[in-house]
Amino acid sequence: MVGNSATGMMTGYLSRPATSGVEGVVFRFKRYAIHDGPGIRTTVFLKGCPLECTWCHNPEGQDFRPRQMAGGPATGGRPLTVGRQVTVARVVAEAEKDLVFYDDSGGGVTFSGGEPLAQPDFILALLATCRHRRLHTVLDTSGFAPPELFLDAARLSDLVLFDLKIIDPDLHRKYTGVNNRQILSNFRAACRAGIPMRVRVPLIPEITATEANLHRLGAFLSTCRAGCPVDLLPYHRIGEDKYRRLGIGHPGRIPGNLDKARIRQAREILAGYDLKVSVGG
Ligand code: SF4
Repeated sequence: MVGNSATGMMTGYLSRPATSGVEGVVFRFKRYAIHDGPGIRTTVFLKGCPLECTWCHNPEGQDFRPRQMAGGPATGGRPLTVGRQVTVARVVAEAEKDLVFYDDSGGGVTFSGGEPLAQPDFILALLATCRHRRLHTVLDTSGFAPPELFLDAARLSDLVLFDLKIIDPDLHRKYTGVNNRQILSNFRAACRAGIPMRVRVPLIPEITATEANLHRLGAFLSTCRAGCPVDLLPYHRIGEDKYRRLGIGHPGRIPGNLDKARIRQAREILAGYDLKVSVGG
């Protein structure tokens, strides 16, 4: 099914024709996903991310090329190659295997990563092809991308899940490796353009889930007149073993999970800015 996307002028990135033969690198297909947008979805994880978040639970998706990873319980200990080159046609064909579930549930395809906008030609061709085939699309992004690319991709999506982390620029650079100026500017541009969005805030103890950061996030989001709902995503440790299996050190110490009282407090702080806040997403 297809939702209503904001319309507007498409810019330079879309002057090139999208073709189903465009290739990119994908590292995972997750079928029957229920937390990555409305309904039942297939989530496609595009490889490569310009950020290096201290808490990243998909470190195998950060670099752009396929790489080896030591085996875990799911592979019976066998090593695996993470990432493969695929065409847009292949991705869409894979997603269309579950059309019946999308139709029944109002679902579709979610593009995540990594950072899907870090493969510009690929993501634009994927979104354009899905729109042509009337597949509902969700773009899950950090917002760290050139403004033209970001808006073109957002306008081709039925919903954007915008991951906002830290408002203070120095702390953002410290914990993600990049400045947040472009991210915040893209978010404001999307609000002005009326792009349908949900904001996702990873709740990382002592990093994003501090009172100071939550108040600054609340103040920032309350200036966006579009009134996007906010999903709080509490940190979990499931990705930590992947660092060992990739043979890389964990980029930082995360002091455990947040307890329910701290999650409730985070929700109350943001709700105090007149935002619609849920836990999970
Ligand atoms: S933006 Fe997402 S994929 Fe990229 S490093 Fe941060 S958490 Fe990992």
